[in-house]
Amino acid sequence: MHPTETDKKDAFVVEGKLALPYQYFAGRTGSRFILGLRDDKKIRGTRCDTCNKVFVPPRQVCDRCFEKIEDKWVDAGPEGTVTGYTVIRYAEPHQPEKPPYILALIKLDNADTPIAHIVKGVPASQMKTGMRVYPVFAKKTMDSILDISHFRVVKPAFELGYTYEELEVGMSASFTKTITETDVYLFAGISGDFNPMHLNEEFAKLTPFGTRIAHGVLPQSLIAPVLGMKLPGLGTVALEITTRFKGPTYFGDTVTATAEVVELLPEKKRARLALSWTNQRGELIGEGTAVVIPPGALPMKK
Ligand SMILES: [Zn+2]
Repeated sequence: MHPTETDKKDAFVVEGKLALPYQYFAGRTGSRFILGLRDDKKIRGTRCDTCNKVFVPPRQVCDRCFEKIEDKWVDAGPEGTVTGYTVIRYAEPHQPEKPPYILALIKLDNADTPIAHIVKGVPASQMKTGMRVYPVFAKKTMDSILDISHFRVVKPAFELGYTYEELEVGMSASFTKTITETDVYLFAGISGDFNPMHLNEEFAKLTPFGTRIAHGVLPQSLIAPVLGMKLPGLGTVALEITTRFKGPTYFGDTVTATAEVVELLPEKKRARLALSWTNQRGELIGEGTAVVIPPGALPMKK
């Protein structure tokens, strides 16, 4: 039926929506893949021996040499590496998750093709390619790829400190501790220095300080957690520490040890730091320098 000239002025376009539920057979290979997720919590792929390639999700036929590989099942993962990602910010009715969320391409260990899935456990601003992830399986089966609820970022057991390339002149860090009689007595045991100026108040009254003081290297040792755990941090090797005593530490004094990067030594990728020790009265009790090898410059054992 074609509208005539007179019909045209009464012709309307009616906007509407069509719900379109659908089903399809996942195929023999796809069914077995989903069964592996659902019943065994295993992510499986198929392998082409000719091309030495593992496909996850599995394929029936190798896309390079067209060999039938539907019976060559192998396990992949469970961990994998993120090779690319995007942040989904627009809501759509059929999304598995409420935006924003991260959708990543994940190459599972032992697989040569990536799968796309949701990654959680890291803010979008800190997401990076190369991150390691592991699957979290859904508590209730969905009979689909969503039997893996999402992937989660693997947290490293230890965060290494700043590398040479990351260090900048002016960066500084501190550690603060109150020195008690217990600390002094323990340090006497550690060092073997039972000098009565540290332990015997009556003797200490005769010294220029008039009371007991801590061993000089006890407050100075507080620079070790700064260099080794903060700046540069874990993985640092100290090469040289020089110090000058500037004042005593009395029992109950709170000492702050500070290190500041003052020079980068590019030839051997080392850093020089200025060290200072102050007490709660703001008095300088010591100063010095350190030369360190930051983490990454020397190989770490696996
Ligand atoms: Zn092949």
